[in-house]
Amino acid sequence: MRDTVLNAMTVDVEDFFHVSAFESIIKPEQWKDYQPRVDVNTRRLLDLFAQYNIKSTFFVLGWVAERYPELIKEIHKQGHEIASHGYAHRRATEQTRQEFYDDVLRSKTHLEDLLGDKLIGYRAPSFSIGYNNEWAFEVLAELGFAYSSSTYPVKHDLYGTPDWPRFAYQRKEGIVEIPIPTHRFLGRQTPIGGGGYFRLYPYAFTKYLVNSYLEKEKQPYSFYFHPWEIDAEQPRLTHAPLKSRFRHYINLDKTYSKLEKLLQDFSWGTMKDVYNIAAK
Ligand SMILES: [Zn+2]
Repeated sequence: MRDTVLNAMTVDVEDFFHVSAFESIIKPEQWKDYQPRVDVNTRRLLDLFAQYNIKSTFFVLGWVAERYPELIKEIHKQGHEIASHGYAHRRATEQTRQEFYDDVLRSKTHLEDLLGDKLIGYRAPSFSIGYNNEWAFEVLAELGFAYSSSTYPVKHDLYGTPDWPRFAYQRKEGIVEIPIPTHRFLGRQTPIGGGGYFRLYPYAFTKYLVNSYLEKEKQPYSFYFHPWEIDAEQPRLTHAPLKSRFRHYINLDKTYSKLEKLLQDFSWGTMKDVYNIAAK
């Protein structure tokens, strides 16, 4: 049976060669050397969402939107929310304020021109807004975004703001931040928002974690994943570091069916509907 609280389903629309885990071996100038799979994988997701009548938020990478405008228009046409994942998948922590501004503006302008619609949401690559770059929220507010979902209040080697708020909140910069959900146990928070952990855990465990979050926190849950996570046939990057390969390739063949169960067991909507966020 589905719970009554509506939760947010989100997809970061990028390809397997864009991910931060592989950035040490694949530079942006080499992206063109790989055969993209994002179009086909995202269309599989659209079919799956249509089957269960679920609307989702798609955080689209500008690089993908430039190459697959028809895909982005199709997502939009089917009633999903389009939001920005920046242009070139560079972490906010590795950019100057001006570079960050230019990257986000480029993706936002491109998507808005393509769709004739205003974007209100943004997600930083690898949850890269944190202690040292709060100015990123000022930039997002300046660019007209109403919300961001760019922080993960956990301790992790690549990201994390463990002592920042765990639930959606209004920032002083004039933007709502929707952190990725965490499980709190014995004073410590662990990630339960999706991605690699969703692939790693047996589905029953994920279901338990989501239910316990909903019961304990009385907050909507939000889930994120990527189109490449349902693509078991993607080429294997054998020269990538072992830890990156483990994180990227674990249980790819099981994710589609797990996702289907997740869609059935809980009720889902877009970020802007679940958190009731209007354009500014
Ligand atoms: Zn990403």
